[in-house]
Amino acid sequence: MSGNANIVANILLGAPGSGKGTQAKRLVETFSLTHLSTGDILRDAVSKGTEIGLRAKAIMAEGKLVDDDTVNGLVFARLLDETSDVLFDGYPRTLQQAQALEDFLSSKGMALGSVVLVDVPQEVLEARVVGRRVCSNNACGAIYHLESKPPKQAGVCDLCGSPLKHRSDDTAEAFQSRMGEFHSTFQPLLGFYKHRPNFRSVDGNRAPELVFESLRHVFGERA
Ligand SMILES: [Zn+2]
Repeated sequence: MSGNANIVANILLGAPGSGKGTQAKRLVETFSLTHLSTGDILRDAVSKGTEIGLRAKAIMAEGKLVDDDTVNGLVFARLLDETSDVLFDGYPRTLQQAQALEDFLSSKGMALGSVVLVDVPQEVLEARVVGRRVCSNNACGAIYHLESKPPKQAGVCDLCGSPLKHRSDDTAEAFQSRMGEFHSTFQPLLGFYKHRPNFRSVDGNRAPELVFESLRHVFGERA
């Protein structure tokens, strides 16, 4: 496991709700990249029962957030196994993780490729969340939006006729609290990357197809 020095690690950044995950899936297909999301790496290591995977499992079993060093260890073990370029989605999440990744890549002769932000204004993300209504029938679970996908009859599910509800996670207060936490770690992370020559920002406040066109253009520059 000495690692493949030709590996290029690309990073897709964005707030929760920015559509980053969906775009990542399309990018990896288009450019034959390996999609590395922290959740997948974690689940993979836990299922393989590696030493670090077991440590992560124990931390999660206590209901705690897996610490930076453990996440880094999991990610680096995966990178050493990779044979094609990768796209990180959800990693690095903190400045510490970004710095550790930088050190790891240079120690293995691997390169940092494109770092791309899917930029969506906070008020747009908030409107997406706050306008969301979900069917109260758990077996149905249909999701609506007051502006972009209203039900035919206000407050009633089109599919099963059950009342729609506004989840407590979807209130403006809950959203702002989550975003406050997110930005306290995200802004230092963004600061670490945003003046790099390989950093790009794309306008994520457009139809997914248009966002993807911009991303495809940015990633196509690598070739
Ligand atoms: Zn329903």
